[in-house]
Amino acid sequence: MKHRYQRVRGTYDILPEDLLLYLKAEETARTMMKLRGYKEIRLPTFEEAGLFIHATGETTDIVEKEMYTFKDKKERQLALRPEGTPGVVRAYLENALNTAFPVSKFCYTGPMFRYERPQGGRRREFFQSGCEYFGNPHPVADAELILLMNDIYASLGISGLIIEINSIGCPECRANYRSQLLAFLNSNKTQLCADCNTRIEKNPLRALDCKLDREKFVNLNAPVISKALCADCAGHFAALQSLLQEAKVPFTVNPYIVRGLDYYTKTVFEAKVQGSDAICAGGRYDGLIKLAGGEETPAVGFAMGVDRTVNLLRAKTAPEAKTPPVFIVIQQEEKIIKNAFLLANSLAGNNIAVAGPYPDKSFKAQLRLADSAGSKYTLILGENEINSGSVTLKDMAGKTQETVKQEDIINRLKSGV
Ligand SMILES: [Zn+2]
Ligand SMILES: [Zn+2]
Repeated sequence: MKHRYQRVRGTYDILPEDLLLYLKAEETARTMMKLRGYKEIRLPTFEEAGLFIHATGETTDIVEKEMYTFKDKKERQLALRPEGTPGVVRAYLENALNTAFPVSKFCYTGPMFRYERPQGGRRREFFQSGCEYFGNPHPVADAELILLMNDIYASLGISGLIIEINSIGCPECRANYRSQLLAFLNSNKTQLCADCNTRIEKNPLRALDCKLDREKFVNLNAPVISKALCADCAGHFAALQSLLQEAKVPFTVNPYIVRGLDYYTKTVFEAKVQGSDAICAGGRYDGLIKLAGGEETPAVGFAMGVDRTVNLLRAKTAPEAKTPPVFIVIQQEEKIIKNAFLLANSLAGNNIAVAGPYPDKSFKAQLRLADSAGSKYTLILGENEINSGSVTLKDMAGKTQETVKQEDIINRLKSGV
């Protein structure tokens, strides 16, 4: 029995035309991050599951419901990474990158994995480009990242970016806020989903991030943490806002953003466009590096959803001409095939994209292919051309043709391609 395999639910093939958009998004992010001193690292796609349970947070949706965990042959409990930050922190400590200089900046790009319902553009394997800034407690670091995020999208030509920021304070602010929120949740229990009812016991702050009840919290005027900040956190948040205003970055304060991760402190932020989910999000996580076994080190970072960014690029980008500009058509003869093969290589080596030769097709069939391919030029190589060391160059639009010496063809094409 022949079995035709299909891709696993929630995974996607990124086909060549789409991949160009992925590369554009990733390369733009990488270039702009590097300009600000973020150094790229590439980390394993699986780690000990404990790293994420510990860092991302035991009661987060990501760890509780969405993490791909498995045992390897030695019975180690491993997980496909659901997000990038814990791995960066682990690598930072494991490689003692903290000893060289008190401030470090890293960027990364790669696949992440979450077992989510594959709807509304959610994928079980998805791509993120992110950056992390360690060692700077001042809001200039938070502001730098928000600016960087804004600049990446501007540079990708995505307009109408909506940046929302909030502060979720430090553990001290949260202790104050917790009782207010608990009172609210308890008095509105019946209106909230089953998950939120569990969250009341386990992690009330997480309720604000509920995908089902998010609207209700706004409508019911749920208490917000930004009104319960301690003096230090309030000062930090005010300074961040003033830096962003200074830099003329448009933003709004949304007191209901808490982000679905346990490790955030103080600043959290998201970017989206009208009608989209968050396409890029991040925040400060001053407690995480210590929690992972390091010295107390302030940190802030964000991750850009490459797939969602590509969706926006796809909507605005007209398909580019992806046809190689030169198509080589030959007579089916051994020495001509060899000559054409070498010619194709030398064109490609000079950055001229080329299709052919296709010696298994008849000369006529090749000419038909050249017609339908939409290339700008066809190069024809036959007996006459080989004998005179030349090639026939046909301009497909103007329907004109000329004979060009083989040694001149690259210059000729470069001036006209
Ligand atoms: Zn605080
Ligand atoms: Zn809920």
